Amino acid sequence: MTNKLFIYNTLSRNKEQFEPANPPFVGLYACGPTVYGDAHLGHARQAVVFDVLYRYLSHLGYRVRYVRNITDVGHLEHDADEGEDKIIKKARLESVEPMEVVQRYLNRYHDNMRLLNLIPPSIEPMASGHIIEQQQLVEKILDAGYAYEKNGSVYFDVARYSESHPYGRLSGRKTEDLLANTRPLDGQSEKNNPLDFALWKKADPSHLMKWPSRWGEGYPGWHLECSVMSTKYLGIPLDIHGGGMDLLFPHHECEIAQNVAGFGEPAVRFWMHHNMITINSQKMGRSLGNFITLDEIFTGSHRLLEQAYAPMTIKFYILQAHYRSPLDFSNQALQASEKGLLRLLKAAAAIDSLPAGPESAFDVDELSHRCGEAMNDDLNTPILISHLFEGVKWINEIQESRASLVKEDLKKLKELYDTWLFSILGLQMISPGDSGKGITGELIELILQLRTEAKNRKDFEAADRIRAVLTDLGVVIMDRKQGTDWEFSKDA
Ligand code: ZN
Repeated sequence: MTNKLFIYNTLSRNKEQFEPANPPFVGLYACGPTVYGDAHLGHARQAVVFDVLYRYLSHLGYRVRYVRNITDVGHLEHDADEGEDKIIKKARLESVEPMEVVQRYLNRYHDNMRLLNLIPPSIEPMASGHIIEQQQLVEKILDAGYAYEKNGSVYFDVARYSESHPYGRLSGRKTEDLLANTRPLDGQSEKNNPLDFALWKKADPSHLMKWPSRWGEGYPGWHLECSVMSTKYLGIPLDIHGGGMDLLFPHHECEIAQNVAGFGEPAVRFWMHHNMITINSQKMGRSLGNFITLDEIFTGSHRLLEQAYAPMTIKFYILQAHYRSPLDFSNQALQASEKGLLRLLKAAAAIDSLPAGPESAFDVDELSHRCGEAMNDDLNTPILISHLFEGVKWINEIQESRASLVKEDLKKLKELYDTWLFSILGLQMISPGDSGKGITGELIELILQLRTEAKNRKDFEAADRIRAVLTDLGVVIMDRKQGTDWEFSKDA
């Protein structure tokens, strides 16, 4: 099978023609979520990007095995080897079993992904279900001489590895620069070198998620699970490994080093990385107050949102940017996107009722061809969408009797939207009501305004009563200098 699909490979920094190693099978691995909190806009982008790739590869006739892991052992945000595991922290705070935390957020993640109309992966392996395989890979790396054991932990020896292998090649970093930019070891760390990373970490007696091993009770290092689960289910070499650009270093760089050290080869042919998201041009972060979960965006309940946005609007907005470009979320941009999507869906729905004409004013085959070319050019969904909007113009002209298509071409036009809009982009019909005005949010704003008016006329009794009722309903209000903020209570 041949195709003209070109994919940008982070490894070569070039668009390369994609051919699977063992056609017609394609192995696709994407780093999935760590499940200790609700899915947010970053998760949506990740899942949408690889869903479209999955759908497009299937459309080209490949049999795709799509593996997306679930990080349930937990890893640490800043330094993979120090600090407390986030899943365990949450479990401790809420006095529940860590796997209850995992299951709760995994269920919610799946609910969100369903609302975005994403096809579930073929396999969704969990790190905790692959402890033995991870220990086996640690053994292999130790046997190959690229790791060392210290006090019940095992670390990857980056200095030793870089003597003969290009550590940093994927992320375009040099080991010397990395070393120069790393803080010196503070005496607390038992690593030989600050660049070394944990393959296996000794667990102290109070640690909740730990497993017996030849090195004592412990748990696997952050990067190990993806090396293990990608190759276990997709073989070596595997065709495509994807993830966010934030995972390029150290996560994917470490994966390559582990693969080379343990399996004797880098294992991955194409590395694909999608760019990050910002909110009102700011990085999204819990401390910045602009951390928006998918539930909040679908219900309009975050204070930065002027309304609720339908899952299809979010998905369409994500697809309107190329996956390698940064993507900024703002009310203005989402509202424009919502309008555009409704226009597109309305036109697609109108094709059935268009009258056939004596001749065709437009070349449907050519438009369809251009849609394919856009996707073949490194999944250029924004260009694909612009072609779909060109078809909207045609549909409008036909509706206004200013142009026509013959019956056969109308049928092809219908197929064009069925294929590209619904089947490959995976968008679904929504009614304007679905993307409503966030009625809950608007009502709360109205009530708060009434409360402010009560306070202004010194009717503090009424103001306090409103606050009490809202609190009972799970709405927390905060009086600030610049006005009143609100949010849904976390226990609601
Ligand atoms: Zn990963």
